[in-house]
Amino acid sequence: MDGARARARVVHQVELGPRVPGTPGHAAMMAWLEGELMRLGAGIERQAFTDSTLGRALPLTNFIARYGPARGRRIALCAHYDTRPWCDQDPDSAHRALPLPGANDGGSGVAVLLEVAELLHRRAPPVGVDLVFLDGEDQGRASQPQEFSLGAKGYAARLAIPGSDARPAAAFVFDMIGDKDLEIYPEIQSSQRAANLCAIVLDAARATGARGFHGTPRYAVTDDHVPLLEAGLPAVDIIDFDYPAWHTARDLPDQTSAESLAEVARVAAWIVYRSPLARS
Ligand SMILES: [Zn+2]
Repeated sequence: MDGARARARVVHQVELGPRVPGTPGHAAMMAWLEGELMRLGAGIERQAFTDSTLGRALPLTNFIARYGPARGRRIALCAHYDTRPWCDQDPDSAHRALPLPGANDGGSGVAVLLEVAELLHRRAPPVGVDLVFLDGEDQGRASQPQEFSLGAKGYAARLAIPGSDARPAAAFVFDMIGDKDLEIYPEIQSSQRAANLCAIVLDAARATGARGFHGTPRYAVTDDHVPLLEAGLPAVDIIDFDYPAWHTARDLPDQTSAESLAEVARVAAWIVYRSPLARS
C-alpha cells in the first residue's frame, strides 16, 4: 500500500475545493473520481437521485465500483466523498460559516478506497468487491441526525433483495481514518449490531500489524453504516472520532499522514483478500 499516493489524493481533493453537492468543487470531485475508477478498471455504476430531506432539492450521486466475480458473495467498502458546508465546530466563530476543507472528513476515506482499487486492479479478489463512494453524508444540521447520510439512504433503498448475487453480504464504512494520530475504537452501534464484522476488523488489524486499532468500543456515531443496518445489511463504521479538527477549518492535509492511510488501506485489503468473508 502506497501511503504517499493516498495522501497525495487527500491533498488533491482539498485542492478541488469544498465537495458540497451542487457546487463546482463537487462536480470536479465527481469527474476526478470517475476518471480514477475508469483508469483502475472498475465496472462503474452511477446512482443519481434527488433528495428532499433538507427541504430543497439536493442532487446526489453515489458511485459503485465493482471488482471480482459477478456471482457469489460480495463485500462492500464504503466512504463518503462529499464535505460539510460549514465548519460549525470551529472554536473561532468567524470560521463557522465557511465550508469544510474535508481532508480527513471526506478525503481520507476516498483515498483509502482508491488505494484498495489500485490493488484490486492488479489482482482480482476472490469474491466480489463493491467500492461504494457515497454522497450527501455531511450536509445536515448538527442537531438533526436524520439530515445525515442521505447518499447512504439512497444506496440502502436501492439494494438488491436479500440473497441476490448483486447484494453485498457485509459493508465496511471508512470515515475519518487519515488522522496522523490514529486511534480507532469499535463504534458502539456497529459492535452491538454487527459484532462479527467488528471482530473481522480487529483480526485484520492484528494480521497486518495495524497499531491504531483498539478493542474496546468508545463512541456511538451517526454515520453511513446506520441506514445500511436499517436495511438489513450488516455494516460496521471504521472511524477515528478522536479528531480535534473535526468540523473545523483545520481539517486540512497537515492533519493527515501517509502512514495512517496506508495502515487502514492494509486492513481494508486484508478484509477483501484474506478474511473469512473472502472465502466464497
Ligand atoms: Zn463529518
